[in-house]
Amino acid sequence: MTVKQIREFLDNKPGYKKEGAKRLAVKLTADGYTASMKSCKRALREARATDKYNSKQARVMIYDIETSRQRADVWWSGKQYINGNNLVGDPNVISIAYKWLGEEEVHCLKWDKNMCDKKMITTFLREYNQADMVIGYNNDRFDNKWINTRALKHSLEVNTLVKSFDIMKQSKSIFRLPSYSMNYLAKFLGVQTKLQHGGLAMWDAIQYGTKKEGKKAMKMMLEYNIQDIIVTEQVFLKVRSYMKMPIHLGVMVGQAKTSCPSCGGSHVKLHKTTVTAAGTVQHIMKCKDDNVKFKISNSQYLKMED
Ligand SMILES: [Zn+2]
Repeated sequence: MTVKQIREFLDNKPGYKKEGAKRLAVKLTADGYTASMKSCKRALREARATDKYNSKQARVMIYDIETSRQRADVWWSGKQYINGNNLVGDPNVISIAYKWLGEEEVHCLKWDKNMCDKKMITTFLREYNQADMVIGYNNDRFDNKWINTRALKHSLEVNTLVKSFDIMKQSKSIFRLPSYSMNYLAKFLGVQTKLQHGGLAMWDAIQYGTKKEGKKAMKMMLEYNIQDIIVTEQVFLKVRSYMKMPIHLGVMVGQAKTSCPSCGGSHVKLHKTTVTAAGTVQHIMKCKDDNVKFKISNSQYLKMED
């Protein structure tokens, strides 16, 4: 058996990771395989290191919200200016979908039957406030501010200083695209978006429809919300090597500054050496796992060489 095959065996029977190489070799022989002690030792060492690394992953959350519309009282139809005095009540959050990067499950929350978002926001903030970084589409201008606002409304604690990776904002500064909508970018990257948006009728049904209409439209909104999360994650994985990480996810979990800021891994190589205008030598490193490039100082680089 190759080390890779033994690793696969260990993935299926993780209990053997706690045993020694000798015990593992005996088990493999009993199962009719041939594996050297050396391969067993190496496979165990690798599997344990991977587990240790995985357990120390930073908490990165991908999330997206859907919000209700603002109501306003107006005198008549036609083009007009609506000021704060025309507004009736305040808009709130209808649903939130989120997922932790590296995990399979997509979580979904919705407002209560009275269209109040307090309980949902309270539940969501327990997760959001734990995030080392959040990822979204236009979330710096939209979702993050909405979460802050609803926390303020309900006097809840929120991490207003959350580190945020806004795919739309970064796309605008790096790429010249004819449209910066998420749908366009997804299509541009060949990421599948199956569901079509229900449009305004969906909001009408949720906010003003009968119970039956509301239920049906809510189901649709949640599905759309969940799809957005999956699409956002796929888009993120495709664009991240071109973008800047707002936080060093390696240092966050106790790795060296020379580890990859995106995945925290240490499979990095020198990509290019550069010099600043002031004459300081810098090294551009590249992660072999996700192709993310990042700069480190010469002294950090020299430490790495040792
Ligand atoms: Zn990486």
